[in-house]
Amino acid sequence: MPEATPAGRPVDCDVLVVGYGPVGQTLTILLAQCGYRVTVLERKAEPYPRPRAVHYDDEIARVFAAAGIGDQVAAISMPSGEYDWQNADGRTLLHFDWGAAGLSGWPASNMFAQPRLEAVLAARAESFPTVRVRRGWQAAGLTEHDDRVEVTATGLDGGSEVIAARYVVGCDGANSFVREWLGTGLTDLGFFYDWLILDVVPHDQEREWKPFNLQICDPVRPTTVVSGGPGRRRWEFMRLPHETIEQLNNEETAWRLLARWELTPDNADLERHTVYTFQARWADAWRRGRVVIAGDAAHLMPPFAGQGMCSGIRDCANLAWRLDLVLSGRAGDALLDTYTSERSAHIQNAIGMSVELGNVICLTDPAAVAARDEVMLKAEGRPEVALPPIPPPVLGPGVLSVTADGAPFGVAGQLSPQGLVRSAAGTTGLFDQVTGTGFVLLGRGESIKNIDESARASLAELGAHVVRLLPADAEVADVAEAADGTEAVADVDGRYQQWLDAVGYEAVVIRPDFYVFGGATSAAEVPALLGELFGQLGLVTTTAS
Ligand SMILES: Cc1cc2nc3c(=O)[nH]c(=O)nc-3n(C[C@H](O)[C@H](O)[C@H](O)COP(=O)(O)OP(=O)(O)OC[C@H]3O[C@@H](n4cnc5c(N)ncnc54)[C@H](O)[C@@H]3O)c2cc1C
Repeated sequence: MPEATPAGRPVDCDVLVVGYGPVGQTLTILLAQCGYRVTVLERKAEPYPRPRAVHYDDEIARVFAAAGIGDQVAAISMPSGEYDWQNADGRTLLHFDWGAAGLSGWPASNMFAQPRLEAVLAARAESFPTVRVRRGWQAAGLTEHDDRVEVTATGLDGGSEVIAARYVVGCDGANSFVREWLGTGLTDLGFFYDWLILDVVPHDQEREWKPFNLQICDPVRPTTVVSGGPGRRRWEFMRLPHETIEQLNNEETAWRLLARWELTPDNADLERHTVYTFQARWADAWRRGRVVIAGDAAHLMPPFAGQGMCSGIRDCANLAWRLDLVLSGRAGDALLDTYTSERSAHIQNAIGMSVELGNVICLTDPAAVAARDEVMLKAEGRPEVALPPIPPPVLGPGVLSVTADGAPFGVAGQLSPQGLVRSAAGTTGLFDQVTGTGFVLLGRGESIKNIDESARASLAELGAHVVRLLPADAEVADVAEAADGTEAVADVDGRYQQWLDAVGYEAVVIRPDFYVFGGATSAAEVPALLGELFGQLGLVTTTAS
């Protein structure tokens, strides 16, 4: 593992992460898993004890699994199941059923308490001997050099220190110091609503909440009533134009509003009350030289789709493999350029969706409310009919296979599915658990049989899994352990065959963040696909080919 920069000057760590919220924690784990030395500065001496995010999706569950904590996170979460929107009369405007597994193979929608998640993430991050977490230390100054960045850290005890790192990632939240240093502009959609957030632990833990998650689209008081993870409930009440924050944000108001659900200080604990201003904005640049930002430091959105933290975790998955290739010298640092372009387009989709939902939920004008209810009631609760069409989230321009006119080829830039597979050893499970994570070349039939030595060497350099996909009933052992390093798996639930049929690929390259780099419609196209991948990565092959 490198101890110094390529110029030979010593550094204290490979990556300095500023901020130890869920985003900084996840990035720390993903980098430490690759063997890098990560130092974290967190200005608070103690973890933030109050819940914020309560929902994450199947894609994020897959990232947590890749971070080695899939089961631990599942143990502090619960599938969210149904989510209904009702109008003022209690009639169903929208009905979502999120009980099943999502595209990524994990439950589509999960409820949790953020402090519990952060405890799981911290325990995992701090289990690596190369990770140093310095709580009570704040990043206060930053100087970039050709080969490193020096960060001045100030301690709560009045101490001060300079830490040298090859890269710095600001995961330092909405008021990011690192973003300020980048000097980037912000695009702000001008969406500002204040909401009172109440986190409640009802004493009666057997009480049934039906629907389990509910949005009350009542112009008199738009209200959210959802799970806060095992044992907890979350209420959110919109501030009305005639109210002040002070009138809303106090215990008396909290209990008055909760009385509708027959909750009182005698039968429930109010963990906290606070008012958040929901906003929709993103930084225009997420990187300058050796300094990068991720998570709330780079973007903010209203929580109506439960995607704020999720988006930050996606940033980590996108950034970690790039930093790995750059820090190990397998790719030049131009690879970091497309982090912003890919993630920014994706985040704008998430922000757009959250704002769309917010615009529907936050309505107070009676005429607009009547028009909304009419449309939604006619659609009989079907979101695909009632809501404006939202384009699927796709990465912006970046490390993606493109057509001659520069457009993504096929489903390049979209999230890949994860199905159940069976290995030669007879292990059945989700693909990542059976095969491992990282770059994947997955092909069916004979499509990946004739890869030449040089391409194999480059795939090995990337640590890629080259996997032959077999039908569900195939004898995997017969074709596995090929001398050329190809693995084989049976497509137990047929998910990959169905997907490849639908997108018209015979082979596909999936990136470590689970997004599709590109596909080949025949075996003959596979060499060109791989050549495009290595070229776009700027892969520096160090092994003999
Ligand atoms: C009411 C509410 C509901 C939400 N619901 C959801 C949801 O259901 N699903 C979802 O995905 N998201 C949700 N979110 C959003 C989610 O909570 C945030 O997106 C997430 O916490 C961001 O994580 P982060 O690590 O980027 O930033 P943070 O969690 O804010 O962490 C940043 C850390 O950086 C530290 N720091 C700041 N400056 C410095 C410095 N100079 N030096 C050192 N340390 C520093 C801070 O102390 C902090 O610990 C919700 C948010 C709110 C407010």
